[in-house]
Amino acid sequence: MDCKENLKIDLHIHSTASDGTLSPIEILRLARQLNLGAIAITDHDTMAGVKDALAHGIPPALKFLTGVEISVLPPPAFSYLGSFHVLGYSIDPDNTLLNHTLDELQQARKNRNPRILKILNELGFNITLTQVQKEAGECQLGRPHIAQLMIKKGYVKSINEAFDRYLSQGKPAYVDKYRLDCAKAIEIILSAGGVPVLAHPFLIQTQNAKILEDLVVTLMEMGLKGLEVYYPEQTPEKTAHYTDIAKRHGLLVTGGTDFHGSLKPEIQMGSGRGNLSIPYAIYEKLVGI
Ligand code: AMP
Ligand code: ZN
Ligand code: FE
Ligand code: FE
Repeated sequence: MDCKENLKIDLHIHSTASDGTLSPIEILRLARQLNLGAIAITDHDTMAGVKDALAHGIPPALKFLTGVEISVLPPPAFSYLGSFHVLGYSIDPDNTLLNHTLDELQQARKNRNPRILKILNELGFNITLTQVQKEAGECQLGRPHIAQLMIKKGYVKSINEAFDRYLSQGKPAYVDKYRLDCAKAIEIILSAGGVPVLAHPFLIQTQNAKILEDLVVTLMEMGLKGLEVYYPEQTPEKTAHYTDIAKRHGLLVTGGTDFHGSLKPEIQMGSGRGNLSIPYAIYEKLVGI
């Protein structure tokens, strides 16, 4: 039997309820195989995967946190940063306001896909919503699924290429979608009993360290409680920098791989690119043990 303190955790995992390729139950199984101490399923704008995992039953040796990842609009003074992501942990999955809000966000996602496909069609690509749906299976369709079909049809070589050439913001087939204001997202997470955390600061396009810190302070005034310090794609210097910000502002530290299964094949659950190791103590602090 392992001592819990030696186990690793992964608090950022996508399931088939959003754009991951493993079902919630497959995620639980893999987490056990990898001997992880704790995980959180954090799908984009939905808790359907979390609910499935809970209904199935969590293996006794694994700690499980409910989670969600919400795409938000920045505070007005930071509008030039564009959208970023807020994670919510330990949320009551049956909270009415939260579920109502997530339903609206799901609808916004549904409305967006045909608009993206219309542009792609105009650009000469032969792709239909039915084909994307068939390829993706029973899940929340998004840009990665469109990218996947573009690979299959030989239009691009990789998901990254599909984003870089067509699907990312500023590219020809980019379509904006309705997003929650960050203050609203934080408020809803708090009202559902959850812990709001700024996701992957590494991916926020700040020009310098001061801007990120100013953003963090502004979000803390709205109720932000944590910072996702551990993330696969960043240097150890970045991780140290985010740890320092969290420490100086009294924020909880979290971390995860942003595992998406075969939609992000270079990222492994629990270890990212192979060298990420998130200590169990992070989980204990987050749940207040
Ligand atoms: P959507 O939910 O349609 O807004 O798409 C967001 C998803 O696309 C996230 O899971 C990201 O991991 C993925 N994504 C965003 N930008 C890129 C990119 N440049 N390359 C590959 N995947 C991306
Ligand atoms: Zn995703
Ligand atoms: Fe994210
Ligand atoms: Fe994510």
